[in-house]
Amino acid sequence: MQKKQFKTESKKLLDMMVNSIYTNKEIFLRELISNASDAIDKLYFRSLTDSTIKTKREDYEIRITLDKENRKLTISDNGCGMTQDELENNLGVIAKSGSFDFKNDPQNKEKSEIDIIGQFGVGFYSAFMVADNILVKSRAHGADTAYVWESSGADGYTIKECDKAGTGTDIIITIKEDTEDVKYSDYLDDYKISTLIRKYSDYIRYPIRMMTSSQKLKEGSDKEYETVTEDKTLNSMIPLWKKNAKDVTDEEYANFYKEKFYDYEDPIKVIRQKTEGGVNFEALMFIPSHAPFNYYSKDYEKGLQLYSSGVLIMDKCKDLLPDYFSFVRGLVDSSDLSLNISREMLQQDRQLKAIAKAVEKKIVSELKKMLENERENYNKFYSAFGTQLKWGLYSDFGMHKDVLADLVMFKTSEGDELKTLKEYVGKMTEDQKNIYFATGDSVEKISLLPQVESVISRGYEVLYLTEDVDEFALQVLGVYNDKAFVNVCKDNIDLATDEEKESIKKENEDAKELLDFLKESINDNLHSVKFTNTLKDHPACLSSEGEISMGMEKTLNKMPGAEEGVIRAELVLEININHPIAQKMKDMFETDKDELKKYAKILYAQARLISGLSVDNPSELGNLVCDLMLK
Ligand code: ADP
Repeated sequence: MQKKQFKTESKKLLDMMVNSIYTNKEIFLRELISNASDAIDKLYFRSLTDSTIKTKREDYEIRITLDKENRKLTISDNGCGMTQDELENNLGVIAKSGSFDFKNDPQNKEKSEIDIIGQFGVGFYSAFMVADNILVKSRAHGADTAYVWESSGADGYTIKECDKAGTGTDIIITIKEDTEDVKYSDYLDDYKISTLIRKYSDYIRYPIRMMTSSQKLKEGSDKEYETVTEDKTLNSMIPLWKKNAKDVTDEEYANFYKEKFYDYEDPIKVIRQKTEGGVNFEALMFIPSHAPFNYYSKDYEKGLQLYSSGVLIMDKCKDLLPDYFSFVRGLVDSSDLSLNISREMLQQDRQLKAIAKAVEKKIVSELKKMLENERENYNKFYSAFGTQLKWGLYSDFGMHKDVLADLVMFKTSEGDELKTLKEYVGKMTEDQKNIYFATGDSVEKISLLPQVESVISRGYEVLYLTEDVDEFALQVLGVYNDKAFVNVCKDNIDLATDEEKESIKKENEDAKELLDFLKESINDNLHSVKFTNTLKDHPACLSSEGEISMGMEKTLNKMPGAEEGVIRAELVLEININHPIAQKMKDMFETDKDELKKYAKILYAQARLISGLSVDNPSELGNLVCDLMLK
């Protein structure tokens, strides 16, 4: 039979495995055992609804067989097995774990190898680190024929029919000859294998069995030993979350998390919860240190695994997590839930609701602790999932604000650190009435806004909101600690002293004709034009009146289905009375109205650009400026 070639990427990976210098070769065993356990899970799951599957739960096992003489290590499972097509598709191409970039710097070969192995846990292929040849004999549930897949590495593979009794898979590995550097024979040694199973696969929920021989005292003698061979279960099968917290190392948690939830980085926080009285349950939860690639997309599914007394009954139980904590991964195990509970029933389940409530409370308290005691970790967490928390604030009309208001943070005008609202309010001076914020595309752009400069110059700190959701979240929040949130780019910002107010009011009344003329000249749905005396050095700025701010206008118009121009902020052009341009305009109103029209347009366009809004007619603006240059 002709050899088939691996798909290009798989070939490169295989090549890398075969020639691997990765020192942690032993992880191949963990990978194969996990595959076997997954295969059993699959069949077991199917058996819940498919009565043709006769295997009883206690009959499932993973078996390891060692044949030193022929250098063969076999890992067998009685799980779902693979059809011919599945052998082809699953083992002929690289797992769908993500896109690989093999064009790594060849000088970095060693490093890139480790990165790839570490990041993607390359699964089945890792066996080629220790194998000269691999046979995969498999029989799918219900199939009449079994097939064997065979490969010696990068030169390809074959698949043919074979004999195999019973459903499941045997992976038969011919172990490499020892070299000066590596003692591959270790993987044929039952003591070594037992140690590895305990190290990596102890909590696998099916027994991993192996015939082991050991020296034991002969019966009736206290000196004479004999070799006894016995069938031993190598793993304790006690799930990690059932173990005493003090007996579990950080590394064990991290390995468990990475393997189970397909992450390549350690979690930033491990949360264990155990409650008794009310509903009994144990939870083991993890906060990832980065967002999964599909986190902010529709593909991402939230949920915790749900176990009933150690048996998995649902892989992603959505009802256990609120949307704003959808990043939490982990599981809940409760002895109070029935094994055969259906999805519909689960939704109604009172116990489940009670668990969800307790879980949420626990997550909040752990996040608060992290915020207080491990700020750097919290910052890292927040850069991955902060947006989600802010959406949570906004969602359901602010119903969750009590939970979330103290967890959100923002950049501010003071320092580079993100600050909580509590920290902001804690620093407010007595005369500061409100919490000030400004919106924009970036911190740099916001810090250059004329209004921001003016608020800062009065000694107040300003929150810098750069994400679409930010202003909406604060609006829903309304107040924090009795202080209202005020957009510094809104018309109603009340900073001026009574004296200042009085004087500008008079200015505006006196200049009413001029201001109306400017408004008409600009002719762009502008709500009004007025003089201001609160700007520092800038000639003019835009502010808005009413509910919709400029930032909100931008965000709402970006939303799918938004109709161009329907949602508009009511803009006010404010001209700095203390800037020479104000006097110039007053003069021109007397001497050259035509020219003043043009100036008004230019000033307005400038103010729009500074506020981060676009200019409707850039070529008109270009021509106006050009005319001016040619004067
Ligand atoms: P991963 O496990 O990350 O998906 P692997 O390369 O380890 O990647 O395995 C590829 C696929 O081959 C698995 O997803 C599974 O469908 C199949 N497979 C591997 N080992 C077994 C097995 N022992 N029994 C059944 N299917 C298996």
